[in-house]
This record gives sequence, structure tokens and C-alpha cells, in this order.
Amino acid sequence: MGKKSCSGLHPQSMCPAFGGLRVLTRIDGAQVCMAADQGCLYGLTFVSQFYAARKSIISSGLMNAQISGGTMTDDLRRTIEEIALDPSVRLIPVVSTCVAETAGIAEELLPRQAGNAEVVLVRLPAFQIRTHPEAKDVAVSTLLERFGDFAASRKPKSVALVGEIFPVDAMAVGAVLQKIGVSSVVALPGTALEDYREAGRAEAVAVLHPFYEKTAALFREHGASVVEGNPIGANATAGWISRIGEALGLDAEAVRAVAQEEASKVREAMAPFSGLEGRVMVAGYEGNELPVVRLLLEAGLDVPYASTSIARTPLCLEDDRVLSMLGTEVRYRKFLEDDMAAIEEYAFDLVIGTTSLDSYAKERGIPAIYYTNNISARPLFFAAGAATVLGMLGGLLRRKEAWKTMKEYFEGTRQGLS
Ligand code: SF4
Repeated sequence: MGKKSCSGLHPQSMCPAFGGLRVLTRIDGAQVCMAADQGCLYGLTFVSQFYAARKSIISSGLMNAQISGGTMTDDLRRTIEEIALDPSVRLIPVVSTCVAETAGIAEELLPRQAGNAEVVLVRLPAFQIRTHPEAKDVAVSTLLERFGDFAASRKPKSVALVGEIFPVDAMAVGAVLQKIGVSSVVALPGTALEDYREAGRAEAVAVLHPFYEKTAALFREHGASVVEGNPIGANATAGWISRIGEALGLDAEAVRAVAQEEASKVREAMAPFSGLEGRVMVAGYEGNELPVVRLLLEAGLDVPYASTSIARTPLCLEDDRVLSMLGTEVRYRKFLEDDMAAIEEYAFDLVIGTTSLDSYAKERGIPAIYYTNNISARPLFFAAGAATVLGMLGGLLRRKEAWKTMKEYFEGTRQGLS
């Protein structure tokens, strides 16, 4: 399937820096100081308020005058000092985006501390970091590198979870890990700087999403065992629990029993959907799409094409291998045009995509839902995740004719009007 000629000539996703801002603004006591062009600042303030932490971003507001006049670093230092006048600010991430990075910011010219706050430079230019998931990785790894308590002794049987997950999933993970003998769990990206310090002492790190490459590399470098994958679908659930057990040297019998029990629960949860039939497309830009595809394939659905905004990383390889074996064409670093071409090529019964793609599908009478709102805002892990996702998809597939009726109705209305 070839790309259409206009591929890449328009934005394919939101500004990558948003992913970093989502991680940084949510930390208690953090006040971002932004080194960004004023136009970027407007958009990033908007998305941060709505999709991150309802916190404003403070910036010296870069314009041509600052860049060509060479005052950018001085302006930033002054802004940092002003932010630090507030004693409740404990962290000032200096987020540097495209324009500032092009002009060049020398880290050594920024303070490491101001007032009660630690100051840390987080570089997020879109010409290096292509997507918002990957910017989350940069933000998390930068904070860990600075604050992770790697020098202290490891906490026995402790786990750091890396990846934003639905709250119900976090509770389920905590309960299962406790059952196999894990003594403590810390989740990143966290809301407390302390979480980053503590994560440095974890014995094993479960990297739940494949775009946390820099974070995984940092943990490996400091001797922690990195566990890949996630508990989505029956087989992967059993495998994930076993790998955590092995990484921590937990009681093998107990771990095996819990792994089997949780996998059986997933199979039971999936049983009512065994008759589910349909051809589904999964095309998000969150970077966690592949395990969702794996779950759908495990449930017997046909997924000939899936796409994601992230690159094919070593952390994707297991899912990539399973999906390819089961006949799914996976498109990494996808363009909207790739997804639109796939809609023309395969007769999908349901599209789980991005907003622009969904409009394209609906215009053709194909049921379509937004990946972020419908998949990322639901549990995905263990039995509860399988039941929730398959329940939702089952309902949509059963009512798929409604989209055709709607299309016909609106076409009829349009003709009636003309
Ligand atoms: S120029 Fe860079 S920082 Fe500004 S909105 Fe675009 S991608 Fe984001």
C-alpha cells in the first residue's frame, strides 16, 4: 500500500511537547518555565490546561527580538527567578521547544536551584522528538536521571511501573503484584517528585508502553531488571506475571499459580465474546495500540491493518512478531494518508482511529470511534480490561448497520435539499 503524495505536508499529530508537559505539569509543586515561540506557547498553554493539569505555563515568550538579540538565556534566568519567588514551587522544569532549541540553550548557564525549587532543563524539540508519547519518555527519563535515587541500595522485591494507565488498571496491577509477593510498587509518571527518587531504588521495572525507550535504557544502565509487555489478553497476562516473578526471584510456585489464575479469569471474561466477528482497524497515536490489537486477535476478530505514531522500538518487538504472524500489517510512524488508504483497501466493520480518520470512515458509512477517548479511557488489563473492551466493540459491531442508515439518511436529505 503506497503513501499518497501529500503525506507529511500537514501536521499528523499534536505538538510533541504536549506529552512532556502532561508529565511535568502534573507533578505537585511544579511550575513549568517554557522556552517557546509565542505562537507555540498559546497552543501549548491551551492543551496543558485541558489535557494535563489545569495549570498555566509561565514563559519569557520568545520573539525574534530575544533570539536575534541574544538575550534568550538571560530572559529565561529572570523568569526562573520570578517563578522561584513563590516558596511553594519545588520544581521548575524549563521546557525548551523547537525555536529555543534551534537558537541553542546552554544548560550550564541555567541555575540548578532557585529559591525552594530544583531547576531542570527538558529538551523537547519536534525535529528530534516526533510524537507526544515519545516526549513523555524524554520528560520521565530526564527527571529520573536528575532525581532517581540510583546510588542508594535497592529495595528488595520492589517494582516501578512505567506508563500512564487507567486508575482501575493501576489498582488491579497493585493487587496482583501483592499476591505474588511484591513488597512495594511506585508508578511513573507520578504526581510526586518523590516517586522519581523512589523509582531509582526499584529492583524491577515494568515498562508497560513501548515508547519508554530512554527510561528503560536508564534503568538498565543502573542495573534494574526491565520487564517488557503488559497484562492484556490471557497469554500475555500469564507471561507478564511470570516475568515479574522471575525478575524479582519470587517464589516460582506461587507466581505460577497466580499467573494461571489470572489468565483463566481473562479467558472466562472473553468467553461470552467467542462468537464476535468483524474486521477492525486500530489506528491511534498514543503508542499503546499493539497490545490492543493482540487482544482483538485473541478474541477472534480480524485486524488486517493497524497503525501507530511511534517508531518500531525493541520494546515493540514481541507484539510486532505476534501481530505479523497473525496477519496484521503494522504501520509505524504512520501518516493519516496510510490509514485512509487502508480504509479503501479493506472493508472494515469498525474503525478505532483518530478524529480525522474517524470522519473519513463515517462518511463511508463505517462505524468509527476515537481511540484516545474510548480505549485509553477504559481499563485494558487483566479480565476486567478484556471484558470492557470486547463488550464495547461487540455493541458497536452489532449495531454497525446504523452507520449505513445514517449515511443514507444524510445523503437522502442532501439530495432532497438540492
Ligand atoms: S513549532 Fe515545535 S513547539 Fe511549536 S507547536 Fe510546532 S512542534 Fe510544537
